[in-house]
Amino acid sequence: MTIITRFAPSPTGMLHVGNIRTALHNWMFAQKQGGKFLLRIDDTDGERSKQEYVDGIKADLTWLGLIWDGEERQSARFDLYERRFEELRGQGLVYPCYETPDELELRRKVLQGRGLPPIYERTALDLSDEERAAKETAGLRPHWRFKLDHDTPILWTDLVRGEVQFDAKTMSDPVIRRADGSWLYMLPSVIDDIDMGITHVVRGEDHVSNTAAQIQMFTALGAQPPHFAHEALLTGSEGKLSKRLGSLGVAHFREEGIEPMAVKALLARIGTSDPVIPATEIAPLIEGFDFSRFGRAPARFDEAELATLNQKILHHSDYAMVKDRLPAGIDAVAWAAIGPNITKLADVADWWAVVKGPVAVPSLEAEDKAFLGQAADAAAAMDWASDPWHALTNALKQGTERKGKALFLPLRLALTGMEHGPDMAALLPLIGKDEAVQRLKAGSL
Ligand code: GLU
Repeated sequence: MTIITRFAPSPTGMLHVGNIRTALHNWMFAQKQGGKFLLRIDDTDGERSKQEYVDGIKADLTWLGLIWDGEERQSARFDLYERRFEELRGQGLVYPCYETPDELELRRKVLQGRGLPPIYERTALDLSDEERAAKETAGLRPHWRFKLDHDTPILWTDLVRGEVQFDAKTMSDPVIRRADGSWLYMLPSVIDDIDMGITHVVRGEDHVSNTAAQIQMFTALGAQPPHFAHEALLTGSEGKLSKRLGSLGVAHFREEGIEPMAVKALLARIGTSDPVIPATEIAPLIEGFDFSRFGRAPARFDEAELATLNQKILHHSDYAMVKDRLPAGIDAVAWAAIGPNITKLADVADWWAVVKGPVAVPSLEAEDKAFLGQAADAAAAMDWASDPWHALTNALKQGTERKGKALFLPLRLALTGMEHGPDMAALLPLIGKDEAVQRLKAGSL
């Protein structure tokens, strides 16, 4: 059996970190199983769905490297929904309802006031043909509900939550279609999952009660329900469901210089019993991906953790992994010198500018200037071939009284214009002899 998963965003906004996590897990699971990962655009809501969001979602998935094996759009599939809806109607498994939202709300309040669960009481099923005809003549159009089977217990073994059980009698028959004929999410999703041969539905635990109703829809449509994995939701670092998470997406990560790999490495592991690791490649994470490692407690997403992970991943990245995105002229040696000092890849350009110069001439005391004059002479006279930094500092240690900070800091200031930065032993060969001598001289004046 080929495993098929799907990521089914509604194109009514950009992906946020919670959606990205769902997409990632669907993709990883399919990768691990040698299966397929489909992108299903849930655009049944013609008013709120926008092409710019479809484009944006695809661009985000592409940036993350979550490449889909097939793509479908619900708006192109209305004929199929209509056909399957008619089948259910023929079997009396969907039924028309005429209550207004106000009537329904009032009824819910009455039930709650009596201490009863606010479940839809199937009043519409009691309508006679004449009563229905009268409503239609009066210009009323029905919305439609799916008739749950009250006699069959709903059971499934969730890949994250274990055994899950629902009693249909405690649930309202879900509305599946609005009075204007438009579809709500529930039924088209099931029709598509059947039609596309989805074997595993991976989504957030906010869908658990939908699943209970959808399992009966699968059965009603003559299909075996797929496997389900409902993951605990994300919370912010404060441990609360944070509003901020809803606005954090790829655009923000890019702005912050976060690597796609860092996003994946973090989202692959938070909420699981496995540690977050600074993986530079996705393969080992896919290898270890297992729904049984996911916990029931919310997964904490911490932006500071992401930033730290990003830095570690960059520090572990080989030249080959980053070379296409480095400023021209940076070779493996330059990457080895500069890489350990960056927090995001864009920092490389700043250090490269330091290597290439010009750098700010430091303002120093007369003594330090004199020292830099000596340093310039020593550098000019030195054999530059192997390890010029140690050769230079050793020569100066012997030729002056200086050591430690008094020795190193004026040199670093003159050579880079800064107090901190990459290891000078790695940087100095990149700066080169002539340029280094120039900078030391300039510092001595
Ligand atoms: N469009 C639905 C959502 O974004 C899909 C849910 C599902 O995966 O079935 O919530």
